[in-house]
Amino acid sequence: MVWWLAAFGSPTWAQPAFRHVNQWLEQQIRYADWKQARSDHFSIRYLPADEPVVPLVLAEAERVYAWFAEQFQFTSDEAVPLILYGEDGQMQERFGWSGEEKASGVYYGGVIYLLSPRVLWPEMPATALKDGRLAERYHREGPLPHEYAHLYLDAVANSNFPRWYTEGLAQLIEYEWIGYEWLNDDNHLQRQSLYSLRQLNEQFDRLANVALAYRQAFKFVQFMVREHGETSLRAFHRQLAQAVSFERAWQAVFGEPVEQSYGRWLDDVRRGGYR
Ligand SMILES: [Zn+2]
Repeated sequence: MVWWLAAFGSPTWAQPAFRHVNQWLEQQIRYADWKQARSDHFSIRYLPADEPVVPLVLAEAERVYAWFAEQFQFTSDEAVPLILYGEDGQMQERFGWSGEEKASGVYYGGVIYLLSPRVLWPEMPATALKDGRLAERYHREGPLPHEYAHLYLDAVANSNFPRWYTEGLAQLIEYEWIGYEWLNDDNHLQRQSLYSLRQLNEQFDRLANVALAYRQAFKFVQFMVREHGETSLRAFHRQLAQAVSFERAWQAVFGEPVEQSYGRWLDDVRRGGYR
């Protein structure tokens, strides 16, 4: 399942705060006549057909919230806005995607957009909602840990990072927490030449093999965390939050330039043991 597709072009990094306000306002207008519900830390807009699954989505969101509060000491004073789409086409229309581009979730400008679990797995029987199987599947395969990781990093570091880093982190978190990793025939690291750091930095979403670019970002971030521990990650994000540049923060926390870390990671891949 793909929930990482960032096909809406490069967001402007320059004015993140403005971008958020814009998104919030636009959201208020766009979804004004949708139904709305609240939980402790989230607000959700949805259409009547999704009324039955709204408690499940909010419960999963609160679970993710609690995990981030514990792991990253990240909490939010204001309700995090969620939009729940009841069909594929709504997501595509919202982000101007072509018919082939799909995602079960998207983080953009302080808002998390989700495809209803009802639409994600139409083959699941109606009883799956009552007996908890739908909630369990939404926890194991749903997009919330990944998208909330993007929200967390953006809130803390204010867009002070390249695209590959936030995608690497989001995949690491969903892997560590729910065991999901995106592996397919196209993105095995051992079977092809890999992208350079420069390519990831400059063209992340436009590379021919996006699945490979995502996989590289994930495994590189994971390599750093395995070497330096999870506390290093929090220290790194604190530096980014203080508007230290990505490169300088990296050097300060990991003790070498990001290019050097990347080179060592490539050597590690060459030694094998990677998928
Ligand atoms: Zn993502």
